[in-house]
Amino acid sequence: MKKRVLIILAILIAVILTAAFCLWDGYESKQLEMPDTYKTILNRGYLIVGVKADTKPFGFKDKDGKLAGLDVDIAKAIAKSIFRDENKLKLVSVTPSDRLIKLTTGDVDIVIATMTVTPQRMDLIDFSHSYFIAGQTVLVPKDSKITALADLADENVGVIFGTTAEKNLRTLVPTAKVFGYKTYNDAYNALKSGIIKAITSDETILRNYALDDKTVRILNKRYSKEPYAVGVRKGKENKELLERVNFVIKTLITSNSINRLYAKWGLR
Ligand code: GLU
Repeated sequence: MKKRVLIILAILIAVILTAAFCLWDGYESKQLEMPDTYKTILNRGYLIVGVKADTKPFGFKDKDGKLAGLDVDIAKAIAKSIFRDENKLKLVSVTPSDRLIKLTTGDVDIVIATMTVTPQRMDLIDFSHSYFIAGQTVLVPKDSKITALADLADENVGVIFGTTAEKNLRTLVPTAKVFGYKTYNDAYNALKSGIIKAITSDETILRNYALDDKTVRILNKRYSKEPYAVGVRKGKENKELLERVNFVIKTLITSNSINRLYAKWGLR
């Protein structure tokens, strides 16, 4: 008799524990489940994109103070694909040092900001198909003796914090004295005032300084390959958004619209 009571008691405890475990498990997975980003964007009614504000011709302020450029046009194409209206878009300006944080913390849905795909960045975020390939070079005063990367040894060289050029310079010319700046204009002003002897970054970006100012020039050689792509947060809740971004980029490429955009912005 006593034995039977003990068995019933044991079964009862097992049932209670299993039920408690199931309830807790369900609660936990509900807590971890993130809302789908694509649906959040649809409900919100507009897409939020991080773009550059000082990087001609990709993301910069035009004469009316509005953000414009190739990256902005790609953002518009994505908004149009989602909402059939390219103006359902909020642009947030980002820099190389804050664009990953703004993306991963959810300040923006995606980042389109002259951002190179690198293995280190791929550990943190996902990338779309690439929409442009740039290469690094060096901007120097017109009369500078610097003709190659090796000439930067022991010189004061400006980079933009958080860029691939910052990393490459430290690896390729370890004796260069690296001066980091938050924006391109800060680096350019330092070059003009002689604090630094050169700036290294993507040719597509530096070239515009040489076009606007005949007292500076860029070197002919490219020191790296920089495939630009759209940054999307990792995780299955961002899968549908990434697919939509990839669909838009593929369509821009296969319809040749991307070449029209390159021509519009003087690229190639
Ligand atoms: N493409 C380079 C990078 O991703 C430079 C970009 C930039 O200055 O925005 O680091």
